[in-house]
Amino acid sequence: MRRALELARQAWGRTHPNPMVGAVITEGGKVVAEGFHTKAGEPHAEVMALRALGRKPAADAVLHVTLEPCCTHGRTPPCVDAILASGLRTVVVGARDPNPAHVGHGLDLLRAKGVAVVEGVLGEECAALNLIFNHWIVRGTPLLALKVASTLDGKLTLPAGQGRAITGPESQAYVHRLRRLYPAIAVSADTALADNPRLTARGDDGETCPVRFVLDSAAPPRSPTSRGTRPRASRSGRWSATKLPS
Ligand SMILES: [Zn+2]
Repeated sequence: MRRALELARQAWGRTHPNPMVGAVITEGGKVVAEGFHTKAGEPHAEVMALRALGRKPAADAVLHVTLEPCCTHGRTPPCVDAILASGLRTVVVGARDPNPAHVGHGLDLLRAKGVAVVEGVLGEECAALNLIFNHWIVRGTPLLALKVASTLDGKLTLPAGQGRAITGPESQAYVHRLRRLYPAIAVSADTALADNPRLTARGDDGETCPVRFVLDSAAPPRSPTSRGTRPRASRSGRWSATKLPS
């Protein structure tokens, strides 16, 4: 399961609105195939692993998957069907599908067909991997994260003349890795006007540009574009000004 989690993270921030999922097939205790969900619309991790195997699993084969296999048709057929068709007889699952309409159903279907199911292996870690998806699928609202750079004594900037950044390369890299997970980033109009931020995630896999929001109680006249400055967007993301209630 630890390896399946590693595989799932290879699609870090690229599976929205789907969760990240990794899968490993073992035979005789040895890994014989791996797969992970690369992005929405592409095959799920279980199917990728079965394809990577390229043959019928051995009688003692075990599928390890970080998230409960899906049991309904989405953009792709249900993985439960693919597992049953493959002849796999044992499935080890990390976290249950958090969708209230589906939770546990995939496991029930497998068990009903005689497949041995073990669940909860590294369960907390597997669930935590998809905190944004979990929040949205359970509550129907976006998960909001507030980023604050602050000193331990509550200061937000250095004294005048000592530069501006109170963070360092490590924290900035961490922020960009987290930012990669979020499909939208918002700043206040004052920040947009003062800093003209790119609002992109910049990491090892390049620069990505989610939907960007400028929160402005006086929108649209104070939007950066109307002031003659242009967002430093390098990609096709767009700025959206949202008027806040006053
Ligand atoms: Zn699936």
